[in-house]
Amino acid sequence: MLRHSCGYEANFHCKNCRLPLTHDERIGLYCPKCGRRITTICPGCGRPW
Ligand SMILES: [Zn+2]
Ligand SMILES: [Zn+2]
Repeated sequence: MLRHSCGYEANFHCKNCRLPLTHDERIGLYCPKCGRRITTICPGCGRPW
């Protein structure tokens, strides 16, 4: 599970590889396999993840 700064926890998966995404402070959400970056909004607070 990934935890947002607001405390909300969720899992995101790469649409290509179906692997769980990893979070990096500078990069944001990305897939550890194909390197695809995903921009998404936190369902808990509405801010960018
Ligand atoms: Zn991927
Ligand atoms: Zn949040």
